[in-house]
Amino acid sequence: MNKENIYQNIRNQGGRLTRLRKGIVQILLAEDCLLSSAKLLSRLNKSNLTPNRSTIFRELLFLTNNQIILKNNISGVDYYEIPCDKHHHHLVCLKCHAISKVELADQLQKQEKKIAKQNKFKVINHSLEFYGYCRKCQV
Ligand SMILES: [Zn+2]
Ligand SMILES: [Zn+2]
Ligand SMILES: [Zn+2]
Repeated sequence: MNKENIYQNIRNQGGRLTRLRKGIVQILLAEDCLLSSAKLLSRLNKSNLTPNRSTIFRELLFLTNNQIILKNNISGVDYYEIPCDKHHHHLVCLKCHAISKVELADQLQKQEKKIAKQNKFKVINHSLEFYGYCRKCQV
């Protein structure tokens, strides 16, 4: 996924390419993985975008509903990321809250298809997090 593809997706969903939308996409692309809503907001502020709470909430909802960005709630905190070309899962440290990417040898695609069929459910995405302690936090 590059910037232009994502902008095109937004247009295809009937969305306007506002400065705020572009800002959110650029910040999440640069991060390349999950970013908390608080950090996203502070980075927007740094790039002189200061949306109010309801505006940012509406924007994130639009982008999430159109699968332009993915939302993930980890330990009660909302995180967002751009779907990567390389599908991945996350290691979440319960102590320092560091999140790192991890790829599975078996990408769960087979199971996903089976589950979709069995439940007559149209699966769009899945997330899988591993919780524990990172190297630094293991005593
Ligand atoms: Zn990620
Ligand atoms: Zn840690
Ligand atoms: Zn997966």
